[in-house]
Amino acid sequence: MLVRRFGENEVAPIVREYDAQEKLPSEILERMAMLGFFGGTVPPEFGGLGLDYLTYVSVIEEMSRFDHCLAMLMSMPSGLVGSGILKFGTEEQRERWLMPLALGQTFGGGGVTEPRSGSDVAGTQTRYTRDGPNFRLTGAKAWITNLDIASFFVTFATSDPSLGRRGISAFIVPADAPGVIKRPFRNKLGFRPLCTGELTFEDVVLGSDSLLGEEGDGFRVAMTAVERGRLTVAARAVGLAQACLDDSTAYARERIVFGHPISEFQMVQKKLADMAVEIQAARLLTRDCAKALQAGQRGRKEASMAKMFASDVAQRAATEALQIHGANGVSDEFRVNRFYRDSKVFQIIEGPNDIHRTLVSDYVLGVRSD
Ligand SMILES: Cc1cc2nc3c(=O)[nH]c(=O)nc-3n(C[C@H](O)[C@H](O)[C@H](O)COP(=O)(O)OP(=O)(O)OC[C@H]3O[C@@H](n4cnc5c(N)ncnc54)[C@H](O)[C@@H]3O)c2cc1C
Repeated sequence: MLVRRFGENEVAPIVREYDAQEKLPSEILERMAMLGFFGGTVPPEFGGLGLDYLTYVSVIEEMSRFDHCLAMLMSMPSGLVGSGILKFGTEEQRERWLMPLALGQTFGGGGVTEPRSGSDVAGTQTRYTRDGPNFRLTGAKAWITNLDIASFFVTFATSDPSLGRRGISAFIVPADAPGVIKRPFRNKLGFRPLCTGELTFEDVVLGSDSLLGEEGDGFRVAMTAVERGRLTVAARAVGLAQACLDDSTAYARERIVFGHPISEFQMVQKKLADMAVEIQAARLLTRDCAKALQAGQRGRKEASMAKMFASDVAQRAATEALQIHGANGVSDEFRVNRFYRDSKVFQIIEGPNDIHRTLVSDYVLGVRSD
């Protein structure tokens, strides 16, 4: 309820403006930190709320009904950035990097995607070498979010590309380390308030305390992060789809065409009914994945199913919502305009849906069972 009230009173009135400006509302982020919104599933001893995964996805869904970009920031300590530090980090790394993140005092970024290896994480080209007790990092990441606000990035590099996933290690790179270069992409189709772009490492020197886990653990760190990331994308997609249905229902009741509210036309009713059923199915798949993680399972299949289905549902819901709004949906005075642009991106991030379909079919065919 707190998140819903916050969304209604504080986010809804200004989201259109900051989306257009491609800028996060810093005063809102401060208020969210004060209210503990970034604590998520991080244990209380590291500054978090210690939420169970089912509660966590409900909270992410609620915020996404207003702005899934803020929900994405809420998810970072529990997901893409923090989960690897919690699972693989030393006590010192958890206190130094995870705690301020969970308290909302800092933000982080996850640097997985590269210009030439997006979906293929094991194909990372960013290189590291040992230099006495230190490491040297050289390479480029692409489409990395939070370039503007992150104090650090959890990123991945290989000692030798021919080793595949066994050669990959994870590093925590301070955003202000010499040799870290950021180049934001402007004017994105969706996710506009988030600053996303290229992150280049030009011979960045890192101390031994920057290594996350052991050398060679990088692929496992990345998978821990992306599985929780996928759960979060699913919850964000459900929240956005629910907002599409809410707006479409209200609009259909009010819009009079041919002397009738359009809600009286069966074709519009079908759209609303299909949306409602699909959204509930996506919500249940998301909860299924949350339950698997809560039970200590890896949840890989569940994460793929939930992310793939929920993002497809969100995209269909946004398309139908825009149709129901007619020309008004094309105007940015109506939220469905933003939902339409953002929903497409859900089908691409955290692994494109084509790859999730392949993964799910691997489980169905018994090719994969992990
Ligand atoms: C707004 C935004 C924010 C992002 N933020 C981050 C971030 O913070 N950190 C980060 O690391 N990344 C981030 N990304 C990157 C995102 O995770 C990648 O774009 C995504 O994983 C896909 O990689 P790619 O774009 O290189 O697609 P590619 O790997 O080039 O794939 C392109 C297409 O090829 C097809 N394809 C590829 N492989 C297969 C296959 N095996 N089977 C079937 N079809 C296939 C699919 O249709 C896919 O969509 C972000 C992206 C966006 C758009």
